Amino acid sequence: MKGITILGSTGSIGVSTLDVIARHPERFRVVALTAHRNAERLAEQCRRFRPAYAVMVDPDAADTLATLLADMPEPPQVLRGAEALTEVAALDDVDYVMAAIVGAAGLMSSLAAARAGKRLMLANKEALVVAGALLMDAARENDATLLPIDSEHNAIFQCLPPAQGRGLPESGVERILLTASGGPFRDADPETLVAVTPEQAVAHPNWSMGRKISVDSATMMNKGLEIIEACWLFATSPERIQVVVHRQSVIHSMVQYADGSVLAQLGNPDMRTPIAHALGWPERIDAGVEPLDLFEIARLDFEPPAPERFPCLRLAYRAARDGGTAPVVLNAANEVAVAAFLERRIGFTDIARVVEQTMDRLPPERVDLSGLEHVLGVDAAARRAAEQRVAALVA
Ligand code: NAD
Ligand code: MG
Repeated sequence: MKGITILGSTGSIGVSTLDVIARHPERFRVVALTAHRNAERLAEQCRRFRPAYAVMVDPDAADTLATLLADMPEPPQVLRGAEALTEVAALDDVDYVMAAIVGAAGLMSSLAAARAGKRLMLANKEALVVAGALLMDAARENDATLLPIDSEHNAIFQCLPPAQGRGLPESGVERILLTASGGPFRDADPETLVAVTPEQAVAHPNWSMGRKISVDSATMMNKGLEIIEACWLFATSPERIQVVVHRQSVIHSMVQYADGSVLAQLGNPDMRTPIAHALGWPERIDAGVEPLDLFEIARLDFEPPAPERFPCLRLAYRAARDGGTAPVVLNAANEVAVAAFLERRIGFTDIARVVEQTMDRLPPERVDLSGLEHVLGVDAAARRAAEQRVAALVA
């Protein structure tokens, strides 16, 4: 029996993870569940999965949760505050940690799991974007197994040779073909994007996801963050990564080898597949996903992304090439801008504007960001600068 902590269990990835776990009661035992402030949903999950710990980051919601669970025969211990996240990520009887918190808020707990040598199943891509060096070093030094949950990176992982300690060129890899659905606006006239509402932006044609990543998919910032994520996970550079718009979201990414072979991983767009892959690895376990019906799909299309429609992709490439503090600034500004868009304070096309202006304001320091304090300092400064850009747009 493997003990599991799910960080962000009430979100889209968290719920899918519990769905897969429920199919294998003989393999997995839930030790801890965590959420930001949705006490009702966390209470339901606690009743069903009976964890030893339940963390609510928001203290008021923690009180509500404790009240909701009071009549359970053996209620979980309710912990509160962000520090409790790192605590349950590193518990002795936890073998696997699903890192499914959204945004840089997931950094400390992902890092704690790596430092404690857990199997770290990483959905929280922002942690790698802001602190890739720290997280990769922590995993290496503490023998943590880092398995990507992001569908593209999980696909790439599956298409790479098993001995992944070597660099990509030594393994005969020419490049990574990172697929992208193109989001809801892949065919939109760029002139119309200024009027896009939050409801339109979160309505993804192929995937059902949390609100932040849905907006990131609509701007294609998600693909930009994934380029940086891939650079860290697979020790490569942005030049070796090509973005391929593939509207059916059936191929989840590909690896091209020196001999001309291209290996792809295919499947229905359902996050339970990469989740089950990471939970079962190196074995294969049932995910509850419908088998792929190629006759129903009938065709697969590929095209390059249109730069005029997706300025965020260009900004992410810029940050990936600049390195140092640039990805931290990119991510922080994007988190601020997306939140402001979802609150209807700024428009859809303002997201790229806020990110670019923030990047211009805080030019990249070409440093090796191996200190956590430094990362958090740059993140905080970028958030302040981005908030100022938002305020200027609102005025
Ligand atoms: P979501 O918004 O549905 O869920 C986020 C979870 O994080 C919730 O449980 C919430 O309570 C928790 N949370 C939010 N803010 C928090 C904070 N400040 N402190 C602690 N916990 C907090 O998000 P999601 O779509 O499940 O995405 C989670 C992560 O997985 C993101 O990094 C996303 O990029 C990545 N991801 C998601 C998908 C997907 O299909 N949803 C696919 C690939 C990668
Ligand atoms: Mg993805």
